[in-house]
Amino acid sequence: MAKLNFKATVLKNLFSKPATRLYPAEEKIYPTGMRGHVQNDMDVCVLCGLCSIKCPTHAITVDKASRTWSIRPMSCIQCRCCVDNCPKKCLSMEVKFTEPGREKRTNSFPQSEKAIAEQEALMKAAKERAAKAAEAKKAAEEKKAAEEKKPEAEGNA
Ligand code: SF4
Ligand code: SF4
Repeated sequence: MAKLNFKATVLKNLFSKPATRLYPAEEKIYPTGMRGHVQNDMDVCVLCGLCSIKCPTHAITVDKASRTWSIRPMSCIQCRCCVDNCPKKCLSMEVKFTEPGREKRTNSFPQSEKAIAEQEALMKAAKERAAKAAEAKKAAEEKKAAEEKKPEAEGNA
């Protein structure tokens, strides 16, 4: 019986494809959804810092002063927390592994001019909205105060 099983295995192996690949001639095709290495679209990132707060291994650093986003790929455990929590959806996990290296490194990326301009425009618009709201509130308060004074003036007349 054991002999029969052995023959079956030999026959199967003779007519099936090898389980290994001819690396590096043949590249591995990874399945979609694979958690590869983290990438950031610096045209969209607003440097809010949420990804760095959520990262369990502190692999991400956000420096608002120098407007840079950095990642230490060798500290990343591919948990995807940063990707799932980014409010701008600018983080993604590339479908390939981080390249190996002999030294721990930090990859830094500057915020793009486009993102800076968009962020400044948004801040300007928010400031204008706040100023308008303050003006409207002040006008409403002045109107209310004037209305409250009116009956008093009429009573004195
Ligand atoms: S990658 Fe996303 S969460 Fe991280 S700083 Fe940029 S916008 Fe914020
Ligand atoms: S995938 Fe996880 S470990 Fe890697 S940078 Fe994002 S939050 Fe940190």
